[in-house]
Amino acid sequence: MCRRIAAGNWKMNGVAADLGEVSAIADAAQDTTCEVVLCLPATLLPQAGARNLPKALKLGGQDCHVETNGAYTGDISAEMLAEVGAKYVIVGHSERRQFHGESDAQIAAKARAAWDAGLTAIICIGETEEQYRAGRTLEVLDRQIAGSLPQNATSENTVLAYEPIWAIGTGLTPSLAEVSAIHTHLRTRLPDETIAILYGGSVNAKNADKIMNLENVDGSLVGGASLTVAKFTPIIKALEATK
Ligand code: PEP
Repeated sequence: MCRRIAAGNWKMNGVAADLGEVSAIADAAQDTTCEVVLCLPATLLPQAGARNLPKALKLGGQDCHVETNGAYTGDISAEMLAEVGAKYVIVGHSERRQFHGESDAQIAAKARAAWDAGLTAIICIGETEEQYRAGRTLEVLDRQIAGSLPQNATSENTVLAYEPIWAIGTGLTPSLAEVSAIHTHLRTRLPDETIAILYGGSVNAKNADKIMNLENVDGSLVGGASLTVAKFTPIIKALEATK
């Protein structure tokens, strides 16, 4: 049995004035037995922690460095995230791979750094539109899994998020049959077959129930629709309904 997780990624969005949404999402999280996670900007993590939120909401970071400390201007370590209350950290998001040139090997090292700090690593993989159109999705995902998922990953320390890059923030999604076939394939590639596999890419209140119902989809990683309780709650409820 896999963990069931609704994870939000706030990206570079959110200031103190938005903490009310975090509190409201924490309240909504109390109505589900699934794990609800918000990966906030690092600046908001201590402020969210200071609110004594219901424990049903877990907090996460959006990236971490491979080292615990050192001369890495602008970076943040997994240990630092853990110290301010994070339980999860996203590594290898396509925006990090694309805009920061992160390699599979770096992402695997970040996942190991996350584990060392006691965090669950949410490791992201996904193909570009060009690769999708060329029918290379599975080949690309296999390569990313082989390179960025450490062999000793377990369901305790790792969550895999399949996020087709062309579906992120575009309103586009693969067909249900495609998501199902890809997740079923991914399951066979995992070092521990009970690792949760999340789907991410334009999940919203309208499509969440159908996607969450697919076999081998254990939850979602949500960008835009996780920014408000009004948009995120239906996604949490859709996952809860599939238990
Ligand atoms: C994401 O950035 O991980 C994501 C899935 O974004 P969105 O839900 O906005 O497509």
